[in-house]
Amino acid sequence: MSADHETDVVVIGAGQAGLSAAYFLHRAGLRGDTGFVVLDHGKRAGGAWQYRWPSLRMDRVHGVHDLPGLRLAEVPGASDPDRPAAEVMADYFAEYERVFDLPVRRPVSVRAVSRTPDGRFLVDSAGEAWSARGVINATGTWDKPFWPYYPGRETFRGRQLHTADYTGPAPLAGAHVVVVGGGTSAVQLLTEIADVAEGTTWVTRRPPVFHEGEFTPEYGRKVVAAVDARVREGRPPGSVVGVTGLTLTQQVRAARDSGVLVRHPMFERITPGGVRWADGREQRADVILWATGFRAALDHLAPLRLRGPGGGIRMDGTRVVGQPRLRLVGYGPSASTVGASRAGREAVRGLLAELGS
Ligand SMILES: Cc1cc2nc3c(=O)[nH]c(=O)nc-3n(C[C@H](O)[C@H](O)[C@H](O)COP(=O)(O)OP(=O)(O)OC[C@H]3O[C@@H](n4cnc5c(N)ncnc54)[C@H](O)[C@@H]3O)c2cc1C
Repeated sequence: MSADHETDVVVIGAGQAGLSAAYFLHRAGLRGDTGFVVLDHGKRAGGAWQYRWPSLRMDRVHGVHDLPGLRLAEVPGASDPDRPAAEVMADYFAEYERVFDLPVRRPVSVRAVSRTPDGRFLVDSAGEAWSARGVINATGTWDKPFWPYYPGRETFRGRQLHTADYTGPAPLAGAHVVVVGGGTSAVQLLTEIADVAEGTTWVTRRPPVFHEGEFTPEYGRKVVAAVDARVREGRPPGSVVGVTGLTLTQQVRAARDSGVLVRHPMFERITPGGVRWADGREQRADVILWATGFRAALDHLAPLRLRGPGGGIRMDGTRVVGQPRLRLVGYGPSASTVGASRAGREAVRGLLAELGS
């Protein structure tokens, strides 16, 4: 297959990580379609934020790091704590693309990235293909919700949904909801569902660890170092909450005190009417909500055969070991809004040095 376009660098994804990389490419003087292009399959600006549930308001997100060069606070209405994060962040990213005149093409869904005999990358979408000297992948995780399998799942007569499908607590009013998962999303969803549901049951694989202290920059660095060490060894990055524990915000503390956050171990199987534990105990349920996280959306990189025997990708910073012209941003230690913004700079600096630009 031949390419329709030639460019130096293709950035895949226009979330926090992709936009940060685009900003530094722009600053380095690459311009227009011949310099670099950002391919994004969202219908509009906003990365994964645009899909977050409407009840996730700005006062409930953990804190969003600014993109380089334009602070979130500079966008009109961004400081309103009652506005949905999906709306604020979509406005912010759209403004960012406009101010820096970033060459974002959407909706473009990248299906496969492969190497051509001349050492370039072929980035193939359903409609067009790009030939590039370097690729910065910033596709996040939202497109790959993780649903663990438990026996009997297909027999359940109620409704099952994932965090990615959640639109707010209202449709769950009067239901008994089993929430599965030990991460921040599970806790946030439980606290709001408990207000309208007939009842909630929280199940997690491991007992949750609540982080009592303040989330200081020093602690943040420790967490990032732990995830970084995993990906340097080629292991899957794992969950950040697995390292940080759950932050005890005022809201989480209140929910814990009111008895909403009573944790049960994982059930053994799903029955037509609910869930059953190994000791025979059962819980009736109308809804099972899988707040079981996401995995890196990297299927389009499969032709490059990056994964090692353990299923991880061996990384050195944002560089894929063995593929110096391919950078992964928003992956592993940079899978947070702080990390994603910083990784953009590191990836561009390293990649341009590699390309001799
Ligand atoms: C519910 C939830 C709440 C969160 N809250 C916080 C928080 O408060 N603070 C914080 O630091 N972090 C938070 N995070 C994590 C944070 O959202 C991410 O780490 C960060 O925003 C991800 O940015 P990203 O650019 O890597 O990915 P994304 O924002 O997911 O952007 C990826 C982009 O790539 C596009 N894309 C994907 N696949 C393709 C493809 N094949 N072809 C073309 N385009 C593609 C997508 O459409 C999307 O636009 C939260 C995550 C979740 C799930």
